[in-house]
Amino acid sequence: MPVSAPPGPRSRATRALSLASLALLLTAACSASPGGASGGDPTAAPPLPGPQDGGDAPDGDRDAAPGDDAPDDGPVGEGPLGTRVVVIDPGHNGGNASAPSEINALVPAGPAEKACDTVGAETGDGYPEHEFNWELSLLVKERLEADGATVLLTREDDEGVGPCIDERAGIGNEAEADAALSIHADGGPESGRGFHVIMPGEVDGFTEEIVEPSRLLAEDVRRAYLEGSDIPYADYLADEGLDERTDLGGLNMSTVPKVFLEAGNMRNPEDAELLSDPAWRERAADSIAQGMAAYLMRS
Ligand SMILES: [Zn+2]
Repeated sequence: MPVSAPPGPRSRATRALSLASLALLLTAACSASPGGASGGDPTAAPPLPGPQDGGDAPDGDRDAAPGDDAPDDGPVGEGPLGTRVVVIDPGHNGGNASAPSEINALVPAGPAEKACDTVGAETGDGYPEHEFNWELSLLVKERLEADGATVLLTREDDEGVGPCIDERAGIGNEAEADAALSIHADGGPESGRGFHVIMPGEVDGFTEEIVEPSRLLAEDVRRAYLEGSDIPYADYLADEGLDERTDLGGLNMSTVPKVFLEAGNMRNPEDAELLSDPAWRERAADSIAQGMAAYLMRS
């Protein structure tokens, strides 16, 4: 699928709006007490996407010197998230279904090995999860880059095979990312709807260092996504939208704070209608980027 965001100039107004939004987020994040509501209105001004170059090679060097031809089209590295490195991991891949031997090969996943990857879910109308994950990840990437973050994706397109779950984690580790987010949508029971965020539980020798910050990341993403996506907490699993797991290689193999967002249940008609709607995905990406920015601005 083509990248949907058309190129266009980023104005000073856009940048200013974006900054105002992040300031609000920071206020909300700092003032929120456990279980309490935040004082700001986080829906007031979502970060706005800016034009991006589409370069998303996982190992791309984003420290390249900026050109001097477009002063308002700030390079990656300028903005409130300018020192932050984020990995966005679009779950699965478009070629996985046709490569069972590669996908089923066992790879390190923590104390045990697991399959390299899976095919993923799809809606009743046949909209595949890998495509949803890819499209939403691109939108989140645009938004975070507009605020200056360096954003790496774990795959370059929606047509390949893999990478395996341990390699996806490795991309965040090698980049020493401040945070990593895997974007998925669930294939749950048709009668159940809602989203959940999966965070790593403690696995001896693997996740001790990331459990605590990953929980904060999960809470920030959960709060923003609940407010911005119109999708409720999952009603068929997890606990108020949070699930702690110790069996996911993508989390166990990560040395940087990382969570999975299961953005909705593709098998549920109500969720599927939203997930399939390009306009909804724009709003969802706003909220995910807000949640990630809130986490990144904690420190
Ligand atoms: Zn998935």
